[in-house]
Amino acid sequence: MIPLVVRTIDELHAATRKWREVGETYAIVPTMGALHEGHLTLLEEGAKLADRVMATIFVNPRQFSATEDLGRYPRDEEGDIEKLASANCDLVYIPNIDQIYPDGFATSISPAGAAKTGLEDKFRPQFFDGVATVVAKLFIQSAADFAMFGEKDYQQLMVVRQMARDLDLGIDVVGVPTIREDDGLAKSSRNRYLSKHERHQATAIIRALMQAADKINAGQDMQQATKAASRSLTTLGFKVDYVTARNADTLAVPTRPDEPLRLLAAAWLGKTRLIDNIPV
Ligand code: AMP
Repeated sequence: MIPLVVRTIDELHAATRKWREVGETYAIVPTMGALHEGHLTLLEEGAKLADRVMATIFVNPRQFSATEDLGRYPRDEEGDIEKLASANCDLVYIPNIDQIYPDGFATSISPAGAAKTGLEDKFRPQFFDGVATVVAKLFIQSAADFAMFGEKDYQQLMVVRQMARDLDLGIDVVGVPTIREDDGLAKSSRNRYLSKHERHQATAIIRALMQAADKINAGQDMQQATKAASRSLTTLGFKVDYVTARNADTLAVPTRPDEPLRLLAAAWLGKTRLIDNIPV
């Protein structure tokens, strides 16, 4: 089934109004395109919860800094629509830039809480304001019942969930476990930047996280375990931004032995920045 492609808020509303008129619910899957199986799994999970599923494709300039990869971020609209057709996606909203940022646009959402925990926010200071602003707009424009987000971007999932709650956006934010390549590397649109050699090395991140989780489960101090993981990645040639154990709900630094934990890592391999995380 080829999804209906809409590019304006009016077209989007015309389509969702038809669904509402017959009492159908729908889920939204926000993406930046260059779709892979991770994105398609979000659509499948959405279809389990709602009658209809829509994807959005928008490479959001506001979540990139001047030095980041906005210009070279992969774009493949035709290929994406083909993939969405195979995933039973009902509609894809590919907003024209003025539908998101009309002339004179001057409002921004600035999340705190999980967004200010010294993880992605420390290394990409503009990132969560950009994400929260565009995601709030997509939630309001779509008025969807469910929003599907990947655990791959764990801090983002926590931030979006808190924003939806804080601002009464009336949407249920659902997290979906990370989809991986056969060798464990988390699927990502950015993996295509990796050279053959880097692609081979990239699996070290999940291995380092799993070793650290094993050590923590065996009773080792979590600082020691994450430091060892960070050191092993550095030895392999990564430039590590962080490897850390955090409270799985708040992403605060754990203070009690019985807290639910999440291990999170971000590291550069050459010119590519990779992130991953796992539960402990
Ligand atoms: P992106 O296009 O990278 O902005 O991602 C769009 C959505 O897909 C976000 O909710 C991501 O967390 C999610 N996503 C990306 N990669 C994966 C993956 N490997 N497994 C599950 N979800 C993912």
